[in-house]
Amino acid sequence: MKQFLRNLKVVSILLVLLVAFLMVGLLVQQKRSQRELSVAVGENKQALRQRYMRAGSIYSADGVILAHSKNGEREYAADPALARACLHLVGDYTHRLPYGIESVYMPELLGTSRSFFTQLFLDFKKQGFTGNDLILTVDSKLMLKADSLLSDYSGSIVMFNYRSGDILALVSSPRLYPQDVIDWTNIVDSSLFNRALHGRYLPGSTFKIIPTAALLSDGKLDVTMTVDCKGKEPIVPAGAKETLTPKGHGRVGLAQAFPKSCNAFFGQLAVELGRERLLEQAESFGFNQELFIDRLKVATSTIDLTEPGIGALSWVGVGQPIGRDRLTLSPVHLAMLSGAIANEGVLMKPHLLRQEIDPTGVAGRERESEQYSICCDQHIAAAIEKLMLDTVSSGTGKRAYRDGLEIAGKTGTAEMIDSDGKSVVNSLFTGYLISETHPIAIAVVLEDENRAAAQLAGDLLSYAAKLDLP
Ligand SMILES: [Zn+2]
Repeated sequence: MKQFLRNLKVVSILLVLLVAFLMVGLLVQQKRSQRELSVAVGENKQALRQRYMRAGSIYSADGVILAHSKNGEREYAADPALARACLHLVGDYTHRLPYGIESVYMPELLGTSRSFFTQLFLDFKKQGFTGNDLILTVDSKLMLKADSLLSDYSGSIVMFNYRSGDILALVSSPRLYPQDVIDWTNIVDSSLFNRALHGRYLPGSTFKIIPTAALLSDGKLDVTMTVDCKGKEPIVPAGAKETLTPKGHGRVGLAQAFPKSCNAFFGQLAVELGRERLLEQAESFGFNQELFIDRLKVATSTIDLTEPGIGALSWVGVGQPIGRDRLTLSPVHLAMLSGAIANEGVLMKPHLLRQEIDPTGVAGRERESEQYSICCDQHIAAAIEKLMLDTVSSGTGKRAYRDGLEIAGKTGTAEMIDSDGKSVVNSLFTGYLISETHPIAIAVVLEDENRAAAQLAGDLLSYAAKLDLP
């Protein structure tokens, strides 16, 4: 009996302790959520500033601070040029850029996404109010270099590792210093728009990769087909013709037409493939499919083949459809087209977040490389690679050629009507470096510029090839 009473006493004490422990935890968490709630009611700048006072830091993959909270203030990269280059990606604590890491990963940065027991554990370690750190996949040197190459252009650059899916650089211009966004001063027109993620561009000749893949995988079509390109004279009524080469390319097969970017050939090819086959191939490369990079939504690239007539179809084949919004592409997706070819037809799932670390230093699971989709067979990717290498060594992509490097690519010059109804020509390049140590795919899109994209891509890939990447 005595023994029983003693045991009962011990059990009771333990129970009381446990209840006390949980009560304290609950009180701390209640206080915390009340604070969160009062802030959330009027989410103004001051409130957000308070909220981010103890938010976690954001680091690049090479360990450079891109955002952190120090003495109760939220600060961005110490190098102002880097802070500016990272504006669209990192965002700002006032959430003027609603799709930056600061906004989209706010629960992690503030520590409000934790499980009850993790929070309880951190509360007892007196670190419950500190947020988690985030390590991104981007390299600070590549961000800076890409941004400096964009210079005064309006446009964007995306680089990613086509073997792992890690985004290495993602920059958009015009851009601002984070402090200007916070103070709401010196706001340049369209500078808050992240072109790399949300831009919807006409692909122009970069699209020719799609009918090429369709021709090579068709089985029914003759891959040795040739077309007599007569320049300004279209092959089919009201169909695709040359705008840049009025005299034409003469008789060409795929091997000549691709590096020369012959509109007559690809226009005719689209007609022979037909709408269904072209659509199917485009969709296998990610058109009309939702795309996310971790939690960040990318503008969906679209293809619409409802415009009647073979003339209209032939214009789609060269990436210049008749009518607005019939064919659109985001710069992120443009880089992925090349990434899929480079990785033997397999597109890897893109990532921007590498790891999350709690205030005690415990690291969450690191992102893993995984397949996103299979765009085409390995042998077709290899054949397209050969054509893309020829494009850079002797075709329209010569500005991307660099001695000692194997760069494959495809250019595009797309004339489109901008939001003001003005006709503008954009310069596009998609390509990659063939390298075991630096498997990098790139997209460059420059607005109101007709050829510099390949030059910038060559400069950036040759710079990247010399870096030790994490
Ligand atoms: Zn031609």
